[in-house]
Amino acid sequence: MASNSSQPADLDASKVIVTLATELKPVPSLADLASGGMSQAMTDHMVLASYDPVNGWSAPEIKPYGPFTLMPASSCFQYATNAFEGMKAYVGPDGEPRLFRPEKNMARLARSAGRVALPPFNPDELLKLIKQLVTIDKRWVPAAKGHSLYIRPMIIGTRSTLNLSISDSALLWVMCTPCGPYFRSVRPLSLFAATDAVRAWPGGTGEHKIATNYGPTLKHHQSAQAAGHDMNLWLLGDKITEAGVMNFFIVLRRDDGDLDVLTPPLDGTILPGITRASILSMATAHPSRMVLPGLSEETRLHSAERALTMPELEAWLVEGRVVEVFAVGTAVVVSPIGCIAWGEKNIVFPTFGNALGPVSKALRERILDIQEGRFEWEGWSVPCA
Ligand SMILES: *Cc1c(COP(=O)(O)O)cnc(C)c1O
Repeated sequence: MASNSSQPADLDASKVIVTLATELKPVPSLADLASGGMSQAMTDHMVLASYDPVNGWSAPEIKPYGPFTLMPASSCFQYATNAFEGMKAYVGPDGEPRLFRPEKNMARLARSAGRVALPPFNPDELLKLIKQLVTIDKRWVPAAKGHSLYIRPMIIGTRSTLNLSISDSALLWVMCTPCGPYFRSVRPLSLFAATDAVRAWPGGTGEHKIATNYGPTLKHHQSAQAAGHDMNLWLLGDKITEAGVMNFFIVLRRDDGDLDVLTPPLDGTILPGITRASILSMATAHPSRMVLPGLSEETRLHSAERALTMPELEAWLVEGRVVEVFAVGTAVVVSPIGCIAWGEKNIVFPTFGNALGPVSKALRERILDIQEGRFEWEGWSVPCA
């Protein structure tokens, strides 16, 4: 649609064209989802909008989920001009779906898209479209603790050219799939520290959710799994960056008996996880602003962003200071880490049977309560309707 002004049109949720599916798909049962991870069945509908340099953003559509056609010369295929997000909708006690700090996902998608020079979009308008999509596909949001609807917004470059030039055309869409708890049971993860490759590097793109950060990790993920581990620990020299696609945390006992809750700083090599930020601020809030479930008010938590190295980890283990080690992210929420294979060494952390340690258990319980609408905290949980 041509706009009157010379400016290309911004994304505008009020212009949405809704075409509902005439036949609805069967929704996977909780038993189907219990097998772990995502069902891979996409919901009935998706959001779709396109950008071209003359008209700007098209009127967005909500329409049946299905394939679209792209030119083989599209920029996304040649030069990976792709950015994405991962977020979830949860059903609250009122039966209504809610999102968790979704404005953070929108801002991060806009930043990631900007990193590969894709056109800007209004993040508030995209959020309105996502809320409308989730409301339409509400029957797909599984209503059980630890279950959710995984939402994947994506933007790709569609300029048809083999020249290495910015893509001045784009396609933006949002698709959803129901998911059960990421891991079948809480089981401490076994990590394999990659010593012949890095995931991210200073001046690189590790802090963005763009496709090129993920494809090149899959070979190492495959090898780690073939050797019986769950995923890689990504290092930079002997510095810890991330565990798979999750942020890394360690809890240490201090000389005064208080606990440090530490994670590496956002130095450009770390994906700024929304779960990470939430864990840090919940740890800071205990016990003065909220008492975490199952943790004593006497237990003082000091959260901090601090570089962590493998030799430090070993030294802290020898000193008996390590309380627990865990990883966090939207998909897994909070998961314990049991051991790290690092070169010839196998570094083993304290574990608590097939359970989380005291701090990660408290943080996981509270974040699930906030996400699923049982505990109100700083407007983090946002109803879709
Ligand atoms: C998405 C992602 C995370 C977790 O971010 P959340 O916002 O908490 O889901 C952590 N590390 C990497 C590499 C990621 O891609």
